[in-house]
Amino acid sequence: MTVVQHITVLGATGSIGLSTLDVIARHPDRYQVFALTGFSRVAELEALCVIHKPRYAVVPDTVVAQQLQANLRAVGLPTEVLYGAQSLCEVAAHAEVDAVMAAIVGAAGLPPTLAAVEAGKKVLLANKEALVMSGALFMQAVKRGGAVLLPIDSEHNAIFQCLPGDYARGLDKVGVRRVLLTASGGPFREMPLDQLHAVTPEQACAHPNWSMGRKISVDSASMMNKGLELIEACWLFDASPAQIEVVVHPQSVIHSLVDYVDGSVLAQLGNPDMRTPISHALAWPERIDSGVAPLDLFAVARLDFQAPDELRFPCLRLAREAAQAGGTAPAMLNAANEVAVAAFLERRIRFPEIASIIEHVLQAEPAVAVECLDTVLVADGRARNLAERWLAQR
Ligand code: NDP
Ligand code: MG
Repeated sequence: MTVVQHITVLGATGSIGLSTLDVIARHPDRYQVFALTGFSRVAELEALCVIHKPRYAVVPDTVVAQQLQANLRAVGLPTEVLYGAQSLCEVAAHAEVDAVMAAIVGAAGLPPTLAAVEAGKKVLLANKEALVMSGALFMQAVKRGGAVLLPIDSEHNAIFQCLPGDYARGLDKVGVRRVLLTASGGPFREMPLDQLHAVTPEQACAHPNWSMGRKISVDSASMMNKGLELIEACWLFDASPAQIEVVVHPQSVIHSLVDYVDGSVLAQLGNPDMRTPISHALAWPERIDSGVAPLDLFAVARLDFQAPDELRFPCLRLAREAAQAGGTAPAMLNAANEVAVAAFLERRIRFPEIASIIEHVLQAEPAVAVECLDTVLVADGRARNLAERWLAQR
């Protein structure tokens, strides 16, 4: 008999949140929604509450909470509406929760994801920024809390599937030579370099293979996404940056590969649909139907591979340098990138300036060793200030 698992979905109104709820709804015998959280899309959150009937819903402030509570009562729903950052942590760490989908975008997702980890939950990690910011502390908290951490990012989920069950002994010990992290190259992979300064947020968000939130879409266009993923992979699999190679693979059918010392290379393939890694992590170590169509290799027909062009994608170089520098460098890289991407989406800067801001911040503020979460949050704040000042003086 399957025991029903109670799930909190942090960032339920986003792209990953909605895909997660799609999978959950296919398996009412296995999963029940415990809490849903949203931020600006409150009408969407209300509609999700009506469908999934969670015990709790979380919104950013009290005014929104009162309105949502009244609306839910009016339709006879018992959902209790909470508000604020502390409530996000509470629904992530609640004693009755079995698994938490961490799908808030950016640094805002760090505290509730850490709360879930500290509480020893099964944590499905989409929010890569949390791990990039505080990798060492985060992985220590996973051990301390006894959490089960399962990667949702399609590449890391693929790597996890291609590694042996005992990979935590060390990649060298299990015969891994390299991890090959695939990247689509995004919408600007072949655009003439002199046209990049004129691209719009709409063009940057129109990813050729994946449908995602706006921030990660811009990160994919700049390849900062792959840079963040490189850092994420280092922490998840205890790898050095040198053990990870980025491979541009425009079709996004191979989601990543593991190269073993005997010459075997294992890959995970599938249609580019996040419901596959979400289903994998939700059901792990079992397998469940995700609603994703079977891969049609005859329709795919060919798989191409290229080396990444770091002249076109300086963000990838900056991320690799931050990974090598360690300490607070990845947190500053992430913070500067969040400010830069928001400014680009608001049309305050041009696309190539995203990398310029990040490079400026990393040069202006030396990285220091991470002692505790405060060190990370201070570095995050300083990087944001430096980036904002760059924007103001521009
Ligand atoms: P979306 O922008 O679609 O969704 C983000 C979610 O976070 C929304 O529910 C949003 O609420 C909520 N949110 C935003 N800001 C805050 C805040 N300050 N406090 C609380 N909640 C907030 O992003 P995605 O779903 O695309 O991505 C989510 C995470 O997953 C990111 O870290 C991304 O890098 C990662 N990821 C995504 C993939 C994808 O295919 N989309 C693939 C791999 C990783 P609201 O919408 O109500 O404002
Ligand atoms: Mg990814």
